[in-house]
Amino acid sequence: MMDGVICFVGMGSNMDDPAGHCLKAMHLISAADGVNLLRSSSLYRTEPVGCVEQNWFINAVAEIRTELTAHKLLKVLQDIENNMGRVRTEKWGPRIIDLDILLYGQDVIRDENLVIPHPELHRRRFILIPLCEIASYVIHPAFGVSIRGLMDRLDDEGIVDKYGNVEA
Ligand code: AMP
Repeated sequence: MMDGVICFVGMGSNMDDPAGHCLKAMHLISAADGVNLLRSSSLYRTEPVGCVEQNWFINAVAEIRTELTAHKLLKVLQDIENNMGRVRTEKWGPRIIDLDILLYGQDVIRDENLVIPHPELHRRRFILIPLCEIASYVIHPAFGVSIRGLMDRLDDEGIVDKYGNVEA
């Protein structure tokens, strides 16, 4: 598939077998119609943000090429979350899998269902470190700063340790 938009999808899990859930999500993303998985970051073990009385997370980022619109891609990712048994509870609470569109090409989208670039992208080490591993050169379209530049300006002190490589 040569046409399509390059996107970055963030994923995180902190329930049961979080690394397994991230790998399964990566697999389901790669199998989705209209989506081509190009690269995946390592898995990272990360300190929870917000409600801290919960397990540490596993986070990773996938680079995909897609023919889907941003809203259709969101639907595909939400279907994967639901199929993996996600029950929506509190915003920062424990979760089987959370999938976020971090970047959709160079588009800037702000409506009631979708905010792209993802509003936490530039604030969170657990997003920027895996994103920087595979796409340090990408420019954040709203700030005009590279992912590496956002990393350099970051003041989130949350711990993010490499957990392992994705064996896809
Ligand atoms: P959460 O429970 O944190 O996964 O939030 C899910 C909600 O965030 C959904 O209702 C989406 O419509 C909304 N949302 C807004 N922007 C994004 C984005 N860039 N990626 C994923 N979900 C988004």
